[in-house]
Amino acid sequence: MREEYLLIRFGELALKGKNRKEFERQLRENIDHAVKDFPHCEVRRTYGRIAINLLGEPAEEVIEAVKPVFGISSISYARKADLSEEEIQQTAYQMFSEYKDRKTTFKVEARRSNKDFPVHSTKLAPSVGSYILHHTEGIGVDVKNPEVTVEIDVREQGAYVSCGRINGAGGLPTGTGGKVVSMLSGGIDSPTAAYLAMKRGVTVEAVHFHSPPYTNERAKQKVEDIARALSRFGGSINLHVVPFTRVQEAIRRQVPDDHTMTITRRAMLEIVTKIAEKEDAKAVVNGESLGQVASQTLESMNVINEVTSVPVLRPLIAMDKEEIISIAKRIGTYDISVRPYEDCCTVFQPDSPATKPKIGLVYKYEKRLNKEELFEEAIAETKVISVSNAKSGNKEFEDLL
Ligand code: ATP
Ligand code: MG
Repeated sequence: MREEYLLIRFGELALKGKNRKEFERQLRENIDHAVKDFPHCEVRRTYGRIAINLLGEPAEEVIEAVKPVFGISSISYARKADLSEEEIQQTAYQMFSEYKDRKTTFKVEARRSNKDFPVHSTKLAPSVGSYILHHTEGIGVDVKNPEVTVEIDVREQGAYVSCGRINGAGGLPTGTGGKVVSMLSGGIDSPTAAYLAMKRGVTVEAVHFHSPPYTNERAKQKVEDIARALSRFGGSINLHVVPFTRVQEAIRRQVPDDHTMTITRRAMLEIVTKIAEKEDAKAVVNGESLGQVASQTLESMNVINEVTSVPVLRPLIAMDKEEIISIAKRIGTYDISVRPYEDCCTVFQPDSPATKPKIGLVYKYEKRLNKEELFEEAIAETKVISVSNAKSGNKEFEDLL
């Protein structure tokens, strides 16, 4: 059997100029981490791409492990042929025949960075194409719109032959964009928002507000499971569980019903901001989508946002619920989010929250609370859980955005 490889391409990274080296280094490290359960795999950075020498590890499983890594534009399974035209032809033919959804139209593309190899790429491609045609029935070449492309890359060490590309997760390598604090409820939206932020290269500290006994252990477990599912995309995640019962009870006692929601949200954001400062995180991420509920009108966002000077990123701001759900399903958080446990905000939700809260009234009501002490206490009693792993075994991971 010829040596088997995965060839990994980076796409957008190539545009990143000066930072490119650092991006490639981080991507390589993240790939190393993703394949840690396959000890024989050898990950190498070669010019313009990363190659994994499988050395007997199962290709399909390693592909599944590498697919969620951000910063990868595509992956190909390849075999290395010796530097002879005949070897390359045979390898290409063999791979085409084994291709899992064998197609009827194809084309061959060849590149030759090894100029010592005597066959020019413009000659190699048609020569391999005719070999495949000659040995296979019922297929044809289509250079404009082929169902599958056989690629040959002739380098110093050998010729890498692959058949078809698999989409990678896209985005930028986790760890190249600094840190954010992501507000995680047990709902569908916030994990999706965290995922989209992670896709742009940031690492995430997750914060969850927990209100026992109004919300139970299982609600907390649910958020832990969500964080674990997310950790598949960016290594381990710290989940900060903030005890929020006292704050919520104080708000319910002191604030008229129609303003409890606004003031609760402000309290959350103020506490999250303090955590962000402590963790040296440069932004807060939440799952708000414009107009979805009372707290997500522009008026509410204005009044709520007023407690913080840290940027609040809202990756879902313009998305419809169906779009959010379809991403949540693909990333494997949806099934966890729909488990029927109450979130602290649903428990305390008033019948008719203000959609246009007034800042003057908000200040007046907040004066009735002993905010500083309540918040300090909540932060002091916050527990941090480190969640990690979530090896494959999640739902089949399909092509991401
Ligand atoms: P989700 O589906 O994420 O729960 P939602 O549509 O239910 O969102 P809200 O309940 O208004 O919307 O929450 C808006 C955002 O506030 C959430 O997306 C999340 O980022 C944050 N949030 C809400 N509840 C909590 C909580 N208990 N802990 C941490 N963050 C929360
Ligand atoms: Mg919610």
